Amino acid sequence: MSIHRWVLGMMVVLGGCRASIAPVEVGPLHSVETTPPAGLTACWVESGRFGSFTASSLVVRHPEGTVAIDAGNSTNLKEEIQVYEGRTYRWLRALPARLRPRESLADRFGEAGVDPGALRWVLPTHAHLDHLGGVLDLPPTPVLLSEPEQALVAEAREHVITEVMPAHAHGVEGHEEALRFDGGPYEIFDRHADLFGDGSVVVVPMPGHTPGSVAVFVNLPDGTRLLHVGDAVNDRSQIERLRGRASIMRRTDMDEPQANDNVARLHELQRRIPELRIIPAHERRAWAETFGRPGQGCAG
Ligand SMILES: [Zn+2]
Repeated sequence: MSIHRWVLGMMVVLGGCRASIAPVEVGPLHSVETTPPAGLTACWVESGRFGSFTASSLVVRHPEGTVAIDAGNSTNLKEEIQVYEGRTYRWLRALPARLRPRESLADRFGEAGVDPGALRWVLPTHAHLDHLGGVLDLPPTPVLLSEPEQALVAEAREHVITEVMPAHAHGVEGHEEALRFDGGPYEIFDRHADLFGDGSVVVVPMPGHTPGSVAVFVNLPDGTRLLHVGDAVNDRSQIERLRGRASIMRRTDMDEPQANDNVARLHELQRRIPELRIIPAHERRAWAETFGRPGQGCAG
């Protein structure tokens, strides 16, 4: 049996093994004034695809600059993972490597009509290979990382860790920009960072999957509200049904209780704001339902 079919088979078998999560109480919603500019748009650039999984960038064009949320894998992934062995290497080859791009992210952006040389920031939801790696295929661009995630990346420059590829940690050196949550409460979150100061792109901390993981609200001029949750969940059914990750994916969380708490909080957030479109990084269906097809509406 090919590894491809084996992985898909394992997902079907283990996909059902999802522990239930207890609901949590959260305080009142904190709304913040939002005045997205008329020219603000969001679109989907896909860099890798495997079955129902995607590796994608959410490209937000703002009159003050373009930000790409997540960068997918690097084209050099097969070489980059050679520093690992045993179970870690086999895992990386069995799943994240399936989402490697066939061409560079710069080329993908160019085809979609997004100038890769004109990005103001790349904002990875966290520093795992399939979210940060694509940065290495772009012209030098500031990479926004929360302080705990910067610490994780710095650790990966000191010694080999599984969470951040050494090649990526070194590749972003000198291009990191600290993402500071200096805003007060936002919806159910107690801190936020407002990238453009108008409430259009708002980042909130979501530690659990990694210590410095974030989620990103994008509030569009027509009232559409998106929430890119990175790998806080693999798919929206976890949020709807209050379920933990499928057991095959559980190893990816650095702090499983905290990761489960995020699911419960997102469940409550979705209940309070039913129109919010939650987009998990790898759930291709969520991207397709929100954006139609990759590249659509990207050309500025
Ligand atoms: Zn991921």
